[in-house]
Amino acid sequence: MQSPLLDRFGRLHDNLRISVTDRCNIRCFYCMPEEGGQYAPKQEILSLDEIARFAGVAAGLGIRKVRITGGEPLVRKDLAKLIEKVIAIPGIEDVALTTNALLLGAQAKDLYDAGLRRLNIHLDTLDRERFRTITRRDELPRVLESIEIAQSLGFGPIKLNAVAVKGLNEDDILPMAHYGRERGIEVRFIEFMPLDHQGLWDQTQVLSMDQMLERLRAEFGPMHAMPDQDERAPATEFRYGDGKGSIGFIASVSKPFCLNCNRIRLTADGKLRYCLFAVEEMDVRALLRAGDDAGIETAIRENLMRKWIGHEIGTKNFVPPPRPMYAIGG
Ligand code: SAM
Ligand code: SF4
Repeated sequence: MQSPLLDRFGRLHDNLRISVTDRCNIRCFYCMPEEGGQYAPKQEILSLDEIARFAGVAAGLGIRKVRITGGEPLVRKDLAKLIEKVIAIPGIEDVALTTNALLLGAQAKDLYDAGLRRLNIHLDTLDRERFRTITRRDELPRVLESIEIAQSLGFGPIKLNAVAVKGLNEDDILPMAHYGRERGIEVRFIEFMPLDHQGLWDQTQVLSMDQMLERLRAEFGPMHAMPDQDERAPATEFRYGDGKGSIGFIASVSKPFCLNCNRIRLTADGKLRYCLFAVEEMDVRALLRAGDDAGIETAIRENLMRKWIGHEIGTKNFVPPPRPMYAIGG
């Protein structure tokens, strides 16, 4: 029996985010430049077998939850096969997918048959023109159709990830909340984070959880913090006063949750990261390609022992990560 994955601050790590690609089929301005990203060469991207192998080693160290992300994970061929493999790994109790849903309609059945149930779908607005402005693609109808297909197939829970940017999609907060309530889907508003790598972020554009809650309370009345929330989950959740559904916030900027962090990350090109905002990383691709599982275990533990207490967004100490969001994996 391996000792648990504890860092220097006593935080237990049982959660792994795997980025399967750094490519994407849209261009959200807060993540990727309009002309596309600077992608890792194909030969540096881990194969699906290498990713599954890593997940197996991580499960042996106590990883219980896996989230597949990217870039856009559904642009990766045969993703359902990877998901099936990861679900089958002894010790893995939960597998979820974060996607922009453009390709979800076409792949939903295969993903469902592979055993996937939990989906986080990225949608910032219900306004077609604003969707085009944010993502530089006119694809809102396809996303909405995918959500319907996923619901009709029985996926659940489905959550919607909406990045909130002051002066851009503030007017979408209430329509998004209504949309989620009508469909039994929790909307999670994500505070805008400095991950665009073009330096577009600035604190004044952050719509904070408290500011969003104020608007929601004005529309829906009292909102109650959900009892028995998992302290280690990034979202802060509230139930609507009338009992019809819930809403969540990822308040990374206004209320950082670093002290409860339980996550490690693997990038598509095989680098370990202990934080979304980490400025250092550790290579495991060479170890995976050499079949050195013991070396991978050591790398995971060593990387974790370097983990800091938390990011310092908004302070003069903050250094943006050297990779943009699409290359880290959200
Ligand atoms: N392509 C998939 C998607 O968009 O859901 C998965 C990868 S994406 C990098 C993961 C999540 O990161 C997205 O749901 C989006 O909401 C979030 N995200 C990207 N850039 C962000 C930023 N600068 N600030 C806050 N959230 C961001
Ligand atoms: Fe693509 Fe997701 Fe980044 Fe948007 S947030 S550009 S969908 S990877």
